[in-house]
Amino acid sequence: MTRFASVVPLVTARALAREFTYEVPDDVGPGAVVDVRFGNARRRGVVTEIDVAPPDGVQAAPVERVVEELSPALVGLALWVAEYYGSTPGRALSLVAPLKRKARGERPQPAERDALAGEPEPAALSTSQRSALERIVAALDAERPANFLLYGATGSGKTEVYLQACAAALERGRDAIVLVPEIALTPQTLGRFRARFGDRIAVLHSALTEAERRDERERIARGDARIVVGARSAVFAPVRNLGVICVDEEHDASYKQESDPRYDARTVAAKRASLESAVAIFGSATPRPESWERLERLELGARLTGPLPPVRVVDLRREAGYPLSAPLLAELGAIAQGGGKAILLLNRRGVAPALHCRSCGLTLRCANCDVSLVLHRGGMLRCHHCGHVEPEPSTCPACASPELARIGAGTQRLERELQERLPELKRIRLDADTVAKPGALAAALSQFAASDRVVLVGTQMVAKGHHFPGVALAAVVDADTGLGLPDFRAEERTFQLVTQLAGRSGRDAPGRVLVQTFQPDARAIALAANHDVPRFLAGELERRRELGYPPFRHLVRVVVAGPEPDAPLQALQELRASLPDDVLGPAPLLRLRGRYRAQLVAKTAHPRKIAAQAGRLLSAAAPAMRRAGLTAVVDVDPQAL
Ligand SMILES: [Zn+2]
Ligand SMILES: [Zn+2]
Repeated sequence: MTRFASVVPLVTARALAREFTYEVPDDVGPGAVVDVRFGNARRRGVVTEIDVAPPDGVQAAPVERVVEELSPALVGLALWVAEYYGSTPGRALSLVAPLKRKARGERPQPAERDALAGEPEPAALSTSQRSALERIVAALDAERPANFLLYGATGSGKTEVYLQACAAALERGRDAIVLVPEIALTPQTLGRFRARFGDRIAVLHSALTEAERRDERERIARGDARIVVGARSAVFAPVRNLGVICVDEEHDASYKQESDPRYDARTVAAKRASLESAVAIFGSATPRPESWERLERLELGARLTGPLPPVRVVDLRREAGYPLSAPLLAELGAIAQGGGKAILLLNRRGVAPALHCRSCGLTLRCANCDVSLVLHRGGMLRCHHCGHVEPEPSTCPACASPELARIGAGTQRLERELQERLPELKRIRLDADTVAKPGALAAALSQFAASDRVVLVGTQMVAKGHHFPGVALAAVVDADTGLGLPDFRAEERTFQLVTQLAGRSGRDAPGRVLVQTFQPDARAIALAANHDVPRFLAGELERRRELGYPPFRHLVRVVVAGPEPDAPLQALQELRASLPDDVLGPAPLLRLRGRYRAQLVAKTAHPRKIAAQAGRLLSAAAPAMRRAGLTAVVDVDPQAL
């Protein structure tokens, strides 16, 4: 008897976001990845249902080839992602069924190349580590889904708990996934996991080549690699029997994917744990208010090697010399003389974030985007959104005045000032401009680890999870950069960044922390200076409860962009008419890459309903929107507004 199956073709078009019927061989089941004829092309597709009725009046074509098998749990996870994030089944299934490579040769495993040397296993766990681990192992043995927040200061031993939780999963014949925020974190985390588990580690992150990624996926699917360490997409790793999923630095915004499907790996991790009866562990020294409010807390307490360093707040209203104030110069001078390492955080790339005319008040802006151009080394102005580059003019393009002022400071200017003021200190810069090449990050970090009288200058990358002995000074050069942003997470981000950097100093030595600010009384800065995480989160949760922000409500955002100023607003007005009442907008947004944009925002208890509805409406409107050059995105639980 001929069998028919529902197949979701892996195409991105919203207009084709549905299942199609194909004839399949007898041994094909749900989760099979197949090659099919689709229109005039060959496409891959995923079988979602078997033994469906053949379509009326159409001859169903046979599938051409079975490529691989996905686990039913992964298919279920992808279909959930499609619905929850208002995406399409085809786009979401592409996350779990990336293209297969045909030929293969022997290549070194990327984990070998990228790992830094690991630390040895400690002789004994602390009391709090042991009780956290007992709770995790008990949940693992219960074989029911569980979620924990592993909360402890930097240096309190979270990674050791992940390592032993993974070992416990392995002993029970189960697999593990360890998510880290981005490549920035991988070399050191990888080193520790490799030292403990050797070849059983696979690594998945965006800096791998296509071929490396496929090799790693095959090692995982074959069961050769039982522990996967990777960035957010590793949450979809094809491990067969998931036991533990760790989300390290769970507060990090890079867990959110910024292209469709706009999934949040933390939410997906919890969902995957619930589908596969696994234990999800979310670890941080500065947890999200969402996790603090909702998850069972396992507290590790203070750092293992002693108290957190004292924080000195430098009031920039009283100290001249920005970006290097006298107190900061004095601390750096002490390192230049006595030795040691320093880390300076300045969360802005380039020389100066803006060029401003003193005569007419003009700020130089990108021709394609409504944002100011950033001055970089070599006299070039760059747009950080679209990549547009133009030479720095000598006079104002509006009034021809030569009085162009450089506003503020970026990492390149800081690097240059250090060179002028303290040439005896070695400088290593770490930002998106210097780590673009694969291996550059690991090289910079190794160099920093091996040097003395050295200063690491960089953007938020320097605050993230790197552990180096002998850091005598950690300084936030401008704590105010994030506070002025019109985003309800601005305070949370500032608090996290300052607290995380403060935790970087003096893991073995008595460290010093300096925070430069024009707003020393701002709540996020004052509480971060006291390492007071519980008080900050309590206040933050109170504020969010009043305003209806997460975790008390979900946000759903629909953004439409197009070549003409009015069309996005109009399209959203039509969409809004078919959505529930608690949707705000449409409101215009900044123009980016030459595209005019507008958004709707819903604060809702039912994000899935609104996103799915918006997704369906957009699918129906897809042909007309395409003709008008409009694109739309649905963003559930957005990380920025
Ligand atoms: Zn001017
Ligand atoms: Zn631009």
